[in-house]
Amino acid sequence: MKRLLAAVASLVLLVAAVFGIRAAVFAVRRAHQLRPRDIPVLMYHNVLDEVGPTSWQVSAEEFARQMDQLAEAGYSTVLPHDIERATRGRGWFPRKPVVITFDDGYEGVKTFAEPILAKHGFQAICYVIVNRLGGEGPERREFDSGPLLSTNEVAEMAARGTVAIGIHSLTHVPIPHRLEKEILRGRQRLLDVTGVTTRDYCFPFGLYGYDFMDAALRRSGYATAMICEDRMFRYGTETNLLAIPRLSVYGGPHAISVAATNPEDGTVALANDGVKIPLRAVVRRKADGHAWSSSLEWVGEGMSPTYRFPPEAFAAPYRIEAWDKAGLFRYL
Ligand SMILES: [Zn+2]
Repeated sequence: MKRLLAAVASLVLLVAAVFGIRAAVFAVRRAHQLRPRDIPVLMYHNVLDEVGPTSWQVSAEEFARQMDQLAEAGYSTVLPHDIERATRGRGWFPRKPVVITFDDGYEGVKTFAEPILAKHGFQAICYVIVNRLGGEGPERREFDSGPLLSTNEVAEMAARGTVAIGIHSLTHVPIPHRLEKEILRGRQRLLDVTGVTTRDYCFPFGLYGYDFMDAALRRSGYATAMICEDRMFRYGTETNLLAIPRLSVYGGPHAISVAATNPEDGTVALANDGVKIPLRAVVRRKADGHAWSSSLEWVGEGMSPTYRFPPEAFAAPYRIEAWDKAGLFRYL
């Protein structure tokens, strides 16, 4: 009898210990997941081997360089779905999460971006305009920045898993009430034409903030929605997953150089013989890498803004760099 009691008591203790450990792990994980943090969500459109004079096409060479820089800086990609899971206490955030998004559903995402992403073990999401997905060859359809994905390609990409699929309305028209109807029909229509299901949406033209659209998103079972406000996404307990802001990645051809440096008055001027992009100038001390960062200015053909630095920035050997708004990509 005594032995039986002892056995029961140890079993009870063991079960309590297991539950206690599980509860502690869950509490630690939950605290980790809800901790406020900045998550850069990058907005791309098309990636092509040769780009035209538009900021919405990034060259494959530049895209590869950007992905190298993210990997070197220790970033790991997460999908909108991972962020939504985290808010429910599921999964883990990597140390430095970044989200990579593509709007409109261009074929260039499959041809050029997907292999570069796969090389790094990165994942991204591509938001397609469902009614504009066509066939291949002469059946392929076009949009603003080039040829679009076919329905088969969307299904194949979703199956490979490097590029997840989200919805960017049915027709991409700038009419809020029509977009509301398209939100309601989007998920079923994507399923019908590609067999792919998604709970991720992206507002065309960044047209958001209408209660009827948010209600339509909730009614249709969407979990996340992207907007374009060109600012960092601050994740935290108050996060609105139906209005996730993104940072635009400006493409087009560009050739950035230092137009003038004047240590006497502490100024540096940058030049760019290509499409206008916003840049921050940085003076970095060679000896220890200490950096002085400037304000953000648009730099394009015929523009060479002057950036100001304190005199100590030029006191020891230095080099001049040009960086994007969020400090993720170096251009010079
Ligand atoms: Zn769009």
